[in-house]
Amino acid sequence: MKQITISEVGPRDGLQSVDTILSTEGKLTWIEAEYGAGVREIEVGSFVSQTLLPQMADTAAVVKGARRHTDLVIAVLVPNVRGCEAALEAGAHKISIPLSLSETHSLKNVRRDHAQMLEEIAACQALVSQVPEADRPCFEVGLATAFGCTIEGAVDEAFVIDMAARVLEMGVAEVGLSDTTGMGNPAQLERLVTGIWQRCGESRLTGVHLHNTRGQGLANALRAVELGITTLDSSLGGLGGCPFAPGASGNIVTEDLVFMLASMGYSTGIDLEALLAVRHQVAALLPEEEWFGFTASAGLPKHFEKMPMREAS
Ligand code: ZN
Repeated sequence: MKQITISEVGPRDGLQSVDTILSTEGKLTWIEAEYGAGVREIEVGSFVSQTLLPQMADTAAVVKGARRHTDLVIAVLVPNVRGCEAALEAGAHKISIPLSLSETHSLKNVRRDHAQMLEEIAACQALVSQVPEADRPCFEVGLATAFGCTIEGAVDEAFVIDMAARVLEMGVAEVGLSDTTGMGNPAQLERLVTGIWQRCGESRLTGVHLHNTRGQGLANALRAVELGITTLDSSLGGLGGCPFAPGASGNIVTEDLVFMLASMGYSTGIDLEALLAVRHQVAALLPEEEWFGFTASAGLPKHFEKMPMREAS
């Protein structure tokens, strides 16, 4: 049975886009509940300026709290080397820095152009490589706006592949492909994935971060797993929506993604019934926010076969 890792990004991508500031306790309740449903990789927050994103101010405490499970991969996002230092100190297992292929988006998002971002990535890589190998977190560059940009429009595919090769040559463990703006389609995803694989090797790109802004999220996810991508980011209830498209969901909805994969016979280690219960539990913590997803509204079909769930440690 083919294994797919679902990386839950709701506590980061979802919470950073909503107004509600969830307490540390609330975040840990969410993480704990998803762990209980079999989720083993969670992006728990980001180490960013507290003035810019007060929702993420307690990320160090959240990482520390989540570390009680020895088999949970704790991922965080960092915009710069200062964030990377904080992530290492807190004990994150996976550190991701976004490199926006659209330079205009990069300047707007992290106030750095490509040359400055490459310097920042090199500094993070140097820092991470000082950690003894046994404890060294996985350092990943997220290729943001790889499928198109709301400001610049089309993003040149050859440029995406070149930039992937450039950061991988710097020693970064992996790149991830991000459809930040939800503009991608399956054919484009295939060209980008195979382009990076041919140039840099399959082991250097194993995960994709897809948004469902235009309803293409699951189609793109399906193409990705058929190609051989093994990690998919998604968000419980598609939390966060899309700041550029009111009414549209943000990340792909974890519940719908797990339903698709389980129905096709892929193993995610997640108990979908338990996950649907987690959705209700977390929704109660965030009563002001909009929740997306079809599986939760329609319910599981009678003949839905439960997949084996991971044992808790
Ligand atoms: Zn995102």
